[in-house]
Amino acid sequence: MKVKKFGGTSVESAERIKNVGRLISECKKDIIVLSAMSGTTNSLLEISSALKNGEKKSAVELIENLNNKYADTISNLFKTEEYKEKATEALDDIFKSLKELSEKSYSLKLEKEIVAKGELMSTCLMNLHMHEEGINSVLLPALDFMKIDMHGEPDDDFIRENVAKLIDAHNDADLYITQGFICRNEEGDIDNLQRGGSDYTASIIGALSGAEEIEIWTDIDGMHNNDPRYVEGTLPVHNLHFEEAAELAYFGAKILHPTCILPAREHNVPVRLLNTMEPTAEGTLIENKLQRGSIKAVAAKDNITAIKIKSGRMLLAYGFLKKVFEIFEKYETSIDMITTSEVGVSLTIDNEKNLSKIEDELKALGTVTIDRDMVIICVVGDLEWTNKGFEAAALEALRNVPVRMISYGGSNYNISFLIKKEDKTKALRLLSYHLF
Ligand code: ADP
Ligand code: ASP
Ligand code: MG
Repeated sequence: MKVKKFGGTSVESAERIKNVGRLISECKKDIIVLSAMSGTTNSLLEISSALKNGEKKSAVELIENLNNKYADTISNLFKTEEYKEKATEALDDIFKSLKELSEKSYSLKLEKEIVAKGELMSTCLMNLHMHEEGINSVLLPALDFMKIDMHGEPDDDFIRENVAKLIDAHNDADLYITQGFICRNEEGDIDNLQRGGSDYTASIIGALSGAEEIEIWTDIDGMHNNDPRYVEGTLPVHNLHFEEAAELAYFGAKILHPTCILPAREHNVPVRLLNTMEPTAEGTLIENKLQRGSIKAVAAKDNITAIKIKSGRMLLAYGFLKKVFEIFEKYETSIDMITTSEVGVSLTIDNEKNLSKIEDELKALGTVTIDRDMVIICVVGDLEWTNKGFEAAALEALRNVPVRMISYGGSNYNISFLIKKEDKTKALRLLSYHLF
């Protein structure tokens, strides 16, 4: 059994949904995870932000526009009146509940209920399309099994047990279709796995239901060696180790959700990245094997804040770093990069929510300097320290870019540079030019 996830662009129109339908029609017993149609999650967030700003009329208009878009999709997707009616009825129910939600006053809980509608709509359309094509697909409601705990971590036992139960209850099905992204939290309320979270859904289901492989189908032929949105002429990387892929995803390669690789790696389930528009392309296979002796890819993570704590007392003192880390732990803020010297420590965070409180407490330890709008450039590959020349090549590529921090040796797989936001594109291009 495989878990196959199709992203927003793969289901963005009636034609694309039919295309996915053809790709999955032979998938006996596989679990198909779908994102919302491209643009829908953004539209739902716009609706919710209109409600937040008290612009009820504009929220209603946005819902109408979305409804019309789905009516068009239905008329292009289905061949028979019977299925057009079935689909219209099902989506009318979803839009009715969306309108009811828009009557309520805004809360974050309401926003999450609104934003969950996108995946409910796309899976409903795909399931009916498969039925019209004579395939016995069954919808597995993600809200009945996908659960996160108070830290946002998947509740593995609950998920494993309930996916198995749902599949058992429908063991005559040809294939199963479920929603990516959406889940319930520890309160039982509708929640989600953050933007781009459908990849994470697929990885969690694949890891916990003993899948032989997890496939992530998207609009590009695998993980490229640099970010194609900023660099021309990037090329697919055909093989990556779990650790390499996890670093790339965490440090900005948008093709994968930041934490998507973790469940697959933990349960040793290979992940394959494939292109819906070009299904025969090789793509990228991510598994527990390292292709030695090369730098594989570069990625960039935006919106980074660097914090420097300089202290005379760090000199010869033990326990200084512990005090620093405790402050970050207290404010539940994770640290990405860290470098130390005898007189100070620099580190980076990607979440400024509690920065002013953190800054206040750090001031008790030394002089604090903050640099905003920074970018981490992450170079990933076989960067074990005994290999010669790779870190020098990356540094040489960036010889004309001001570098605020460098981190190397934390793992065998990456070297990271902290630079200014305005140097990002230049740095990515220079790295491609010099390394590939
Ligand atoms: P989906 O909607 O299928 O989840 P995403 O838009 O989330 O697709 O991810 C695919 C996009 O990721 C590509 O179109 C590409 O622009 C972007 N991307 C960024 N970095 C990389 C990379 N290193 N390799 C491939 N794609 C990348
Ligand atoms: N639909 C969600 C989003 O747009 C989740 C996903 O596509 O993975 O972020
Ligand atoms: Mg995505």
